[in-house]
Amino acid sequence: MVELRNVSVTYSNGVDALNDVSLKINDGEFVFVVGKSGAGKSTLIRLLLKEITPSKGRINVNGFDLKRLKKTRAYKLRRTIGFVFQDFKLIDSMDVFDNIAFVLRCTDSSERYIAKRVPYVIKLVGLTEKAHSRPSELSGGEQQRVAIARALVNDPQLIIADEPTGNLDPALSTEIVELLQAINKCGTTVLMVTHEHDLVKNFGGRTISLQDGRVIFDDYLIGDRN
Ligand code: ADP
Repeated sequence: MVELRNVSVTYSNGVDALNDVSLKINDGEFVFVVGKSGAGKSTLIRLLLKEITPSKGRINVNGFDLKRLKKTRAYKLRRTIGFVFQDFKLIDSMDVFDNIAFVLRCTDSSERYIAKRVPYVIKLVGLTEKAHSRPSELSGGEQQRVAIARALVNDPQLIIADEPTGNLDPALSTEIVELLQAINKCGTTVLMVTHEHDLVKNFGGRTISLQDGRVIFDDYLIGDRN
């Protein structure tokens, strides 16, 4: 669960990036966050990861009260969140399997668990045949699937996808949103930040729109495909 209560962020240069934002995302929801460049989307994500602290207001993420969570303990919060970036951030000297296993090795999982868990998430994203390919041998859509598998491998409560389709053409973008929705149906909360209105219009669902640091819309849209 994600909850912001009257949250404002003023950066040190005096810019009000978020202004009295309140919102609640329940476990199991799929939410689009939309807004033009400068609307405050990245600031919202950085708050949820406790990379920055709000100037005002309270934030709860996955049971953590971020005001009470010490910076040195923020890794505990981040372990409950899977993150998908626009530019994939895969390591090309490693194959698909090792890119995903890397996350588990960082948290000292046993090789026995890795040998079970990694093929499972690779299968979920439909890339079993490519498990031993390097990222550079894959298409953009396939690379983003690897990144989604990597975000899933720790079994997070929440996936935050930051413009995950920003580098993909419309057909692949649709596939990536379909994949995130399938993952959501299995119980993971998904927050997808995008500025692609066509995609949101097509899928519909709960959409939070930011403008100049304020929530100007938070409601359910009926998608064109529904
Ligand atoms: P978005 O992700 O929607 O493009 P941001 O959250 O990055 O929006 O930015 C919101 C506002 O805060 C913008 O006016 C931006 O210029 C400003 N901003 C973002 N990051 C910083 C920062 N580190 N220092 C100062 N101002 C910032």
